[in-house]
Amino acid sequence: MSFPRRTHTCGALRPSDAGARVVLDGWVASRRDHGGVLFIDLRDRYGTTQVVFHPERAEEVASRAQALRAEWCVAVTGIVRERPAGAVNRDRPTGGIEVEATELAVLSESAVPPFEVDDRVEAALELRLKHRVLDLRRPTIQRNLLLRSRVLLAIRNALAARGFVEVETPILTKATPEGARDYLVPSRVNPGTFYALPQSPQLFKQLLMCAGLDRYLQIARCFRDEDLRADRQPEFTQIDLEMAFVEEEEIRAELEVAIGAAFREGLGLAVPTPFERLPHAAAMARYGLDKPDLRFDLPLHDATPFAAASSFQVFRSVLETGGIVKGMAIPGGGAWPRKEIDALGTKVAEFGAKGLATLKVEEADLTGAIAKFFEPALRARMREAFGAKAGDLLAFVAGPPAVVNRSLGELRNAMGERLRLRDPKTFRFCWVTDFPLFEWNPSEKRWDSAHHPFTAPADWTLKGLPGDPGSILSRSFDLVLNGVELGSGGVRIHRRDVQEKVFSFLGIGPQAAREKFGFLLDALEYGAPPHGGFAVGVDRLVQLMLGLEGIRDVMAFPKTASATCLLTGAPSAVPPEQLAELHIRPVLP
Ligand code: ASP
Repeated sequence: MSFPRRTHTCGALRPSDAGARVVLDGWVASRRDHGGVLFIDLRDRYGTTQVVFHPERAEEVASRAQALRAEWCVAVTGIVRERPAGAVNRDRPTGGIEVEATELAVLSESAVPPFEVDDRVEAALELRLKHRVLDLRRPTIQRNLLLRSRVLLAIRNALAARGFVEVETPILTKATPEGARDYLVPSRVNPGTFYALPQSPQLFKQLLMCAGLDRYLQIARCFRDEDLRADRQPEFTQIDLEMAFVEEEEIRAELEVAIGAAFREGLGLAVPTPFERLPHAAAMARYGLDKPDLRFDLPLHDATPFAAASSFQVFRSVLETGGIVKGMAIPGGGAWPRKEIDALGTKVAEFGAKGLATLKVEEADLTGAIAKFFEPALRARMREAFGAKAGDLLAFVAGPPAVVNRSLGELRNAMGERLRLRDPKTFRFCWVTDFPLFEWNPSEKRWDSAHHPFTAPADWTLKGLPGDPGSILSRSFDLVLNGVELGSGGVRIHRRDVQEKVFSFLGIGPQAAREKFGFLLDALEYGAPPHGGFAVGVDRLVQLMLGLEGIRDVMAFPKTASATCLLTGAPSAVPPEQLAELHIRPVLP
């Protein structure tokens, strides 16, 4: 079919084009009939232009135009007219003109859409995902995808200019332990065996360093079969990199260049570098979380010494069982109504805290039900240590360190929100460094890698093992933006004996290590260079750049929280013959 080719996009025309004969191709966004004069908003990726059909100037065309409905795809030929001053639409770049139609070609009619394709109309999520094609026509989602494209290009260009080589690693591969469940793909030609979809290209990128590629980059799709959790996607994209002959600072410096390019090209913003560096232990002490939101301060304070010197039995018995007491001063919280203070208790309880104790900060003293357990001099010292001012509320949690830190850290974030200290237009990056190498897994009663088992220990050799495994520091670090973990990475183990020591400490015996990671151990046998790398989550990065609540609308075809694609119906049943070919017999409940 031949059709009138556009001379301009729907976002291009300005008053300086007045008088020109143009062709626009696009979709009918809306129609308004003003007593026979028909106005159409014509939309494409670039914008929206008003088209007017005058029955007295182009009768046949105007009468055909009466049939136009939302989402029809059309080509309009017409003359650009400057709008009179009173009719200018200042909300859109083409608002100074309209196109007076002289011809109309309908390229495709549309069925009545299930929802209005309009940024102001919030259709139900299920409906939007099912009809994602229509949903993707919305200007905001197109803006999101365009930003994503610019960000990826900027990062790719910035890193390519610095000598990074783009290498694609296999999608059909062997399970790698990033801590989540694998998606498995049955092999037809090797009955009873399975590939795993990569949770990350971790081991391949390390092999590429052993192979001498020196600087590797990939915009890598990763797959993790995790349990339902809001705002997680089973497949996501990482900017994955690895470098040989480096230590932590060199990796961080490259990422600062890449992130800087993303913000500059994506948003026209200069993000100040270097980003702040914050050791993990300091982050936990001051903010309670390993991904602190540094857009605001509201620090946590250690109240353990005050609790120990008090006569408050609740606090003292927690200390006796190895617990700690920490707290924070909430500006102005002393004046909040009871209900709101109770809500703070509910918040910390969500994260396992047994309760929230509070004191009000008055001009001269601290008051409240537990004040009497603290001597006046102790109250004065506590007030000073917390940096509290009259009108503040002191809030305390007592318990095991992990619970105290987590619950107060989350409370701190909630207070940041409540006090409007979390400006989505402010971008505060930080590197959280010096993570522990291992962390205790209380439910499995064993030590796990805090990052992954390939992370190098701070001392390279693991002299400290067995000792106190929890006190051994690693060479891994995270990138945090506004309280969200954007990525992680670190320096890797490049010595076979050290790698084997870690495997054996994690309960992966020599035989299992050989079976699972023989290819890595072999590579470490032949002159492996010191190396390290990092991965940044693209979906999160773009989400935060746009100030969005979730990652769904920075992906073209996202899945639901239960990992289904409402558009295609995946995952779906397959015919028994196909299963048989794969040597699979279903065992359905
Ligand atoms: N492979 C790691 C991840 O996906 C990142 C890294 O260590 O480079 O989380």
